[in-house]
Amino acid sequence: MFVNREEGTCPECDGTLEIVDADDATLTASCTECGEIADYESDAFDGSCMDHFVPFHLQKMIEAEESRQVIDPDDLWNRFLLAYSTKDWESVLNHAHALLQWLNVEGFPPHLTTGSTTGHLTCQLDEFWNRAVARAACMVALDRAEAEVDRAAH
Ligand SMILES: [Zn+2]
Repeated sequence: MFVNREEGTCPECDGTLEIVDADDATLTASCTECGEIADYESDAFDGSCMDHFVPFHLQKMIEAEESRQVIDPDDLWNRFLLAYSTKDWESVLNHAHALLQWLNVEGFPPHLTTGSTTGHLTCQLDEFWNRAVARAACMVALDRAEAEVDRAAH
């Protein structure tokens, strides 16, 4: 986010300023020409300094939101299944660990689809079933994957 040149420029070289940080009282701006970094009080930039706070903080919030790791247990479960079915044991380890960790902090379980042995019936049951099946499958898969990774290393 840049400061309008009419509102303020670098005190050292008159270069264009880019806002790089903001707290309650000051903006920190970096000069795009000489790299000079300085703090500016809220009355700086021809009084427009405050106009930069809200947009800057909004932008920071959006960036933080985007970088936040969002856990989707359904997606995790699907990748876990794919890893197991393709014998990608390293991935099985990673996904099973992540799922167990998620379940242990009482995150909601993946919405599993369960089927009869004949495939004539598939259904989605309740959260207790899903949690139990997901946890049991992860434990078993972890054991298996650890053994397989260990075997491959020797
Ligand atoms: Zn400068």
